[in-house]
Amino acid sequence: GESTVRQQVMTSITMDGVSKYFDGGETVANYRLNLEVDDGEFLVILGPSGCGKTTALRLVAGLEEPSEGDIYFDDERVNRWSPSERNVAMVFQNYALYPHMSVRENIAYPLKVRGIPPDERDRRIEEVTELLHIEGQIGKRPAALSGGQRQRVALARAIVREPSVFLLDEPLSNLDAKLRQEMRSELKRLQDELGITTIYVTHNQEEAMSMADTVVVMNRGTIQQISPPEELYSRPRTEWVARFIGSPPMNLFEGERRNGSIAIGEAGTVDLESVAGVRGIDATSTSTSTSASASASLSDDLSLGVRPEDLFLSSERPTSGNALEGTVDTVEPLGEYTLVNVAVDDRLVKVKVGDADVTRGEEVWLTFDDEDAYLYDENGELVTQ
Ligand code: ATP
Repeated sequence: GESTVRQQVMTSITMDGVSKYFDGGETVANYRLNLEVDDGEFLVILGPSGCGKTTALRLVAGLEEPSEGDIYFDDERVNRWSPSERNVAMVFQNYALYPHMSVRENIAYPLKVRGIPPDERDRRIEEVTELLHIEGQIGKRPAALSGGQRQRVALARAIVREPSVFLLDEPLSNLDAKLRQEMRSELKRLQDELGITTIYVTHNQEEAMSMADTVVVMNRGTIQQISPPEELYSRPRTEWVARFIGSPPMNLFEGERRNGSIAIGEAGTVDLESVAGVRGIDATSTSTSTSASASASLSDDLSLGVRPEDLFLSSERPTSGNALEGTVDTVEPLGEYTLVNVAVDDRLVKVKVGDADVTRGEEVWLTFDDEDAYLYDENGELVTQ
């Protein structure tokens, strides 16, 4: 063979209206997923436990068959292709290395199975062990390795086959926090160098944000948002995503539209025109409850969202601008910043501040700039012009 680890056959992946049902249709793991993964892209599927991430990955791998819809690799419909025909490599959280084999034998195994001749095998093993910095471990048994080294061997074993697609399911979950962070940047570098189309599944948003070219946020079997990582944070398209991304995530205030303002319970009112105006929305146009396409008109029930880092505390009522009244509940000094929990009506609002000169029980005003506010309509969709 004349191919090397660095010359991959590129593959794009398309999921076209793919659904997967279990238990005779009772469990919906995936519902009408539409997804495109470009050649060489690093795509991360992010979502809470049980949202259907693993099933989506298994469908791409060929370990499950879609109940509905089609999967394409480049222009080929692969619905009925076996995993080996798809030439995908999967690495799971519980990557199983063969305990009785050395590292070298573990890595060589998939090549042996495929009948790759010994000298080609040696060349590829040398290349991949160098790439993953495990040259020194090659004679050891898995039991003699650290968690991170074992994970590297598992990756090496997957890469050495020169797959056209790399599928990773929570591959770092079993590692401690420090190692996880190290492996994160290493995986990213590796994927960059190899340029293999990669789908990575995780429930960890930091992992997703730090590695992905594109993040797909899933909830209950459906896709909530597909966007570059920065946009997930700066422009969460649904209230659900807004509540999911960020640490702590966005605060959402349920409000009621009253002419030009939005009333947030007993806490105060916010000038709707100035908040909406930032996004080019005409707050004076009335809602047409039947028309979903009239995105520029506002429903009567709205949620106002502001991130903890965009809220400010003031001990006096400001003379102008947005302000909501609350009572300091708890103050948590976290080193990097202080988190102040403020009771507003019957809920706790999180405010990130550098230094907090407030104490429990104190009456405060929460202020924020118009451009830091998000509006979500009654369907939980971001109100955009
Ligand atoms: P986690 O992060 O906890 O692994 P996930 O997001 O990967 O979750 P999936 O494993 O894809 O979620 O599961 C999605 C849904 O489909 C869940 O309700 C799960 O119970 C169900 N499910 C998955 N596989 C099967 C199966 N083989 N038989 C029946 N139900 C299944």
